[in-house]
Amino acid sequence: MARLVMKFGGTSVADLDRIRNVARHVKREVDAGHDVAVVVSAMAGVTNQLVEWSRQAAMLHDAREYDAVVATGEQVTAGLLAIALEGMGVNARSWQGWQLPILTDNAHASARILDVNGAELTKRFKEHGQVAVIAGFQGMNKETGRVTTLGRGGSDTSAVAIAAAIGAERCDIYTDVDGVYTTDPRVVPQAHRLAKIAYEEMLELASLGAKVMQVRSVELGMVHNVRIFVRSSFDRPEDIDPRGNPPGTLICDEDEIMEQQVVTGIAFSRDEAQISIREVQDKPGVAAAIFGPLAEANINVDMIVQNVSADGKTTDLTFTVPAADFQRALEVITKAKPAIGYQRLDSATDVAKISVIGIGMRSHAGVAAQAFRALGERAVNIRAITTSEIKFSLLIDAAFTELAVRTLHSLYGLDKASP
Ligand code: ASP
Ligand code: MG
Repeated sequence: MARLVMKFGGTSVADLDRIRNVARHVKREVDAGHDVAVVVSAMAGVTNQLVEWSRQAAMLHDAREYDAVVATGEQVTAGLLAIALEGMGVNARSWQGWQLPILTDNAHASARILDVNGAELTKRFKEHGQVAVIAGFQGMNKETGRVTTLGRGGSDTSAVAIAAAIGAERCDIYTDVDGVYTTDPRVVPQAHRLAKIAYEEMLELASLGAKVMQVRSVELGMVHNVRIFVRSSFDRPEDIDPRGNPPGTLICDEDEIMEQQVVTGIAFSRDEAQISIREVQDKPGVAAAIFGPLAEANINVDMIVQNVSADGKTTDLTFTVPAADFQRALEVITKAKPAIGYQRLDSATDVAKISVIGIGMRSHAGVAAQAFRALGERAVNIRAITTSEIKFSLLIDAAFTELAVRTLHSLYGLDKASP
């Protein structure tokens, strides 16, 4: 017997049939003797509609009222799932964020969870074997008592926070994919599902745009050591043996991973743009003159490469920004030209960033060098490189994205079938 959190995303609760399917998944775990807290998202598309209505009502609106509107989607699914469970003879009760409460800071529309009170839930597990169905995505402003929301995709974070609060053995994230893959299977057919992945690796993958989970939820899982299991909600509940090993990916502490590969996964993004500033004066304060205004404009700079200046007077500086911010970044730099003092501005938008991730890199030298050689042999030019302890990223021409991802996927031994 264990305590579990089961989280279901929007596609898994998209209509009443799917909500009944979710109820059967929950009943399966209850019948196996587990204490269960369920966290639900709004029905697929509902939050988008609510966001859109808020915008149409007034382009500039009060974030407190935005939250009052967008938090409603989860209220509906929590109530409906509790009804469906009761209909199957499972004792269940729905909970809104403010009822527990889930306390947050005052950053409406992207609030951070400060504290979750799970006392009433655990009391009801013990006394009545009652399932808790909790509206994800919502919290309560600690100062004002008003409803807050946790940012798009925030119900993942609700689920992990609740798992930490009630001391759950695992937080199961039921979604429309059956786990985390070594890379996108649409690009590399040999990509396979990972049985386990370390928090740090998943954090990199999520930050690089793998849309499996909200980044904050992985951070929270790492801090509180919540074991997170990503699995499919479309498997038939009756086909799953709750005592068996269902397919999925466990996000956990690296100590729990026995056979650690050097490289775990490869992520890529085509939503990048490169800006090169030529013949910048090589003197103190120049980097600040470039990146200060970009930061003020809220533009996230990712890779930065500065050349050594040959004559000690000027240098070249290359960096990347999200493609969506490219035009704005050009404007910011052009405006700051007098302060920076450069000769020429070059740019490219047909670029892609390929990232290779694995905590095994900490203890293995030469991992990136292998990639440079393999890509060089295939005539893929590397425009920029950045590295960190468990990751390196390469900027290349977008046309070579698939070739590069496939090359690296096989180079690091990820092509073989899942163990
Ligand atoms: N319903 C919210 C959203 O669409 C929260 C979530 O689904 O995680 O962003
Ligand atoms: Mg989601």
